[in-house]
Parts: sequence; structure tokens; C-alpha cells
Amino acid sequence: MAKYTTLGQIQKDIKDGKTNCVQLVDYYLQQIEKNEHLNAYCEVFEDEARHRAAELDKKYRKDPHSVGRLFGAVISLKDVICYAGHEVTAAATILRGFKSLFSATAVERILAEDAIIIGRTNCDQFAMGSDNTNSIYGAVLNADDPSLVPGGSSGGSAVAVQADTCLASLGSDTGGSVRQPADFCNVIGFKPSYGRISRHGLLAYGSSFDQIGTLSHSVADAALLLEVMAGEDDFDATASSQPVEPYFENLEKSNPSVKIAYFGKVLDADGIDPDIRNTNWAIIDKLRVEGHTVESVDFDLLDYVVPAYYVLTTAEASSNLSRFDGVRYGYRTEGVKTLEETYRRSRTEGFSEEVKRRIILGTFVLSAGYYDAYYAKAQKVRRLVSDRFNAIFAEYDFILMPNSPIKPWKVGEKADDPVAMYLADIYSVIANMGGIPAIALGKHKFQLMAAKGEDGKLLAFAHRF
Ligand code: GLN
Repeated sequence: MAKYTTLGQIQKDIKDGKTNCVQLVDYYLQQIEKNEHLNAYCEVFEDEARHRAAELDKKYRKDPHSVGRLFGAVISLKDVICYAGHEVTAAATILRGFKSLFSATAVERILAEDAIIIGRTNCDQFAMGSDNTNSIYGAVLNADDPSLVPGGSSGGSAVAVQADTCLASLGSDTGGSVRQPADFCNVIGFKPSYGRISRHGLLAYGSSFDQIGTLSHSVADAALLLEVMAGEDDFDATASSQPVEPYFENLEKSNPSVKIAYFGKVLDADGIDPDIRNTNWAIIDKLRVEGHTVESVDFDLLDYVVPAYYVLTTAEASSNLSRFDGVRYGYRTEGVKTLEETYRRSRTEGFSEEVKRRIILGTFVLSAGYYDAYYAKAQKVRRLVSDRFNAIFAEYDFILMPNSPIKPWKVGEKADDPVAMYLADIYSVIANMGGIPAIALGKHKFQLMAAKGEDGKLLAFAHRF
């Protein structure tokens, strides 16, 4: 059980004199130590977090009204999010030792509201993976059962929250990396609409899919964090100019009766774990009993979603990762004679097998001879998925789906079968294909999705749930 499940409780206890930032940081540091075997963190900012906590306590004592909205929030960052003066490696050799010169916009915004950053969490290398075994820091283990994976790629962030080593964590979701580990670790995983939070300072994987998201114990904290981080940004032209709603305050304003669609064929499919299937049916019954309209709709594009996702994201990754050349950032092979050899050796030694597989695949699908057959076709699938979502959301408020067809597997079980791992992403990548917001609610359960830009409506309904 987490000591605190919402920032609201923490702030109340601080007000009542029952705790303070220093005590909170000490508690979370103890939890980190206790759970070291889970390997959720690649670096802990122990002294810095303590120091900041003491400063913030001082500020509060001087004037309780002077502190920011995230006062008392102890937060960890996935190792793909830049924090000025701190190492950021994407769990890859190629970035080892690289310190960021600036902070991500999301990080600047949480710091401006007095959050405390406690450490950098382990993840799959360059956010590529579904079980957090693809990391130079080693695998992350699920706190429920350390023989199982925590999901990925934000596995470290999910376990950090699951094991109560921080109140919340910032992750990234390109094709499910916030929601699927949240589902595996029984925490709340929220991926906002594409562009809702600036990607400035988020190491790019598939830029047209990537979105910073949150792992937390509560929907309330997800809403508050979104409110703080969302909004336009001069550093990211794709950040949405849609006004930032009072997501947190509006949590109580959910419509008492909504229309929800689900994909009946998905729940009937053979490949889905029976417990996950049953849980989803039970939730559908419960929603109906509560007076909501819940109906099955057709979605005949499901077979194309995973292939299209992996064509498009690897294409974008092959381009994004070309900047890591052994010259500009982090790691460089020494003792070679030519520039070309420097590139080749540094990249060969600096990237994991999985990342190299994706760079090669992405380069292939973008090559002149195959561009139309793969990349252009996958873009068409993406458009069809988006159109289908628009049609569904013209009639329904939300879509309900499982996060994953399967439960967490044993650590190492899928090491030799990347395709099996890709296929398990079937339910999570859809939201990123459409750029729509989605939230994973609880262990081996389901996610709710809403139309693009309807983050507030989604959070309010999830909160009610
Ligand atoms: N598992 C998916 C992949 O490996 C999703 C990753 C992500 O969302 N970053 O691409």
C-alpha cells in the first residue's frame, strides 16, 4: 500500500503539520533503498532532493501561500527526459555520460510548481520495448512478483510508483509505454493527446507518435500534472495551442451517463488472456448497470495496426537516431583511424541489438525501392485508423479496450522472439496511431480512450470510475 495516493493528501498533512518535504523525501529514499533489487532507478538524486526539500519547507514556513501547486510532490523521470545538468542516457551506451544542457519543457513546468525530482528511472533503450529488458542497466522487475516483467518501455517509472518510491513518474508513450507497464504494475498510466504536452527535451523515438505521460496512484494526480505540463511551447511546433483546461478542478464534472464503444471482436479473440477478457466483460456489465450505454462496434483494421506502427515508428527512429554518431553526444570508440570508422564502431557498440534491428528496419522501409510498398502504405493505414476513430467518436464518448492481450511474462521469456513482443502491443499502439488520449486503469484491466483533445473529459470520467 502506498503511503499517499494523492498529492491532495500530502498537502493536507503538510498543512496539518503531520509531515513536510524533508520527511517525504526521506521516506521515498528509504523505499528506493528497500526496493533496490527491482532496478527501477538508474540514478537517485539523493542529496539534491534532500536539499530542495529543505529549501521548499523553508519557503512554506515563511509563507504557506508562496508555494507552487506541486508542493510536496516527489517525482521521478524516465531516462529519456532531459533535466539540466543531469545525465540522460535512454538506457543506451551511446549516451553514457551525456549530461543535458537544458531541461525538458515538462520538467521546467513541474519544477516551477515546486515538484521535487528524486531520480532517473530505468527504461527500455530509446523507449523501444515492451518489457524493460532492453537496457544497459539490466532488467526492471515487477514489484508484485520479481520473476515477472513490469512491462515497458517505462517499466522503471511504473515500478517506481508501484513500489511507492515516489508519488508519480513521468514516462513517455509512443505505442503504449506508459499504459502497458501501468497495467502490469497496477498503477494509473495516462497518455495525453498527441501534442498536449511539449516534446521539447524528450529524446525522440517516433516523433509523430511520442508523448510524455504520467504514472501515478490516482487519476487526480494525473490531471494535476497534465494541467501543469500542458500547453503551447516555442520549442515544439507540434505542441497543441488548444487552451489548457482546469483538468484537476473539472474532475468532478463528468457526465453521469455516457456512451461507450468497445470492440466486441477483440474481446472474443482467441489470443486474449481469459482473465483479461472476463474483467473487461465484467466492467462492461458494471457500466451498463450504472446507466451508461455500452455498445460493440466494428473495427476491422486491427490486423494492420501493429505492422503499420512498426513500419512508421522504425522509419522515424532510423532518422531520429542518426544524430547519435559518436561525435556529437556521449560515447565514442577511440583508436580508430577514419571518420567513417568512428561512426560505424561507435554506433555498433553504442546501440543494443533491438535498437539496431529497428534502425535497419526503418532504413529499409524508407529506401527508394520499398518506400511505397511499406512506408506509404503504413501511412494510409494510419489515416484509416484516424478516420475510423473520428467516426466512432462522432457517436460515442469513449472507447474501452484492454491494454494488453496478455499478462506480464517471465523476465527473459521473450528475449529471442521480438515479433511476439511486438504483437503484444496490439491494443496500445492504436491510440498513438490516432493521436488520441488514453488512460490505463488498474491491473490487467482496461484503458479508456477519448477523441483527440478531449483529455479533460476522459480524466473526469476515469476519476469517477
Ligand atoms: N512497445 C512499443 C515499442 O516497442 C511501445 C514503446 C513506446 O511506447 N515507447 O515500440
